[in-house]
Amino acid sequence: MTTKINPADLCPCGSQQAYQQCCLPLHVNQLVAQSPEQLMRSRYCAFVVAQFEYLLVTHHPDYRQGLTIEQLAQGNIHWLGLQVINTKQLDTTGEVTFKAWYIDDKQIDAIYEQSRFVLQQGRWFYTEGKQMHTKLPERNEPCICQSGKKFKQCCAKLTY
Ligand SMILES: [Zn+2]
Ligand SMILES: [Zn+2]
Repeated sequence: MTTKINPADLCPCGSQQAYQQCCLPLHVNQLVAQSPEQLMRSRYCAFVVAQFEYLLVTHHPDYRQGLTIEQLAQGNIHWLGLQVINTKQLDTTGEVTFKAWYIDDKQIDAIYEQSRFVLQQGRWFYTEGKQMHTKLPERNEPCICQSGKKFKQCCAKLTY
């Protein structure tokens, strides 16, 4: 399932900017990501808005392992929000640790990953990531979708 989004809507990556001022120019190749974090956010956003071509071209060719747009387009999950936990950037490499929350068949879970990035010819590429396990927030903690509501009053309701 993909989210239909207007350019003036808030960007799904959680930046609090409009999509047209945030990830859209990256998705349509008008701009390139200036940091590993910006690339990571735009890649999460590409999943949400089904810009699968962008996911391929920003995935370093040496690490794609035959990945196809068809494979990326599989599945029926609904993305809930992105939490960037930590970022590290050196001259030509970087790391971003994040939780990308989704709901699949009334189960909320996250891709919790430490992703690695390299800079080549002025472009950041995703190379590979280390997956970890996370648990759901407590019911009174802030919601994973950054709505500002408590988890129990927001996305937790989707699981009932
Ligand atoms: Zn964005
Ligand atoms: Zn929520």
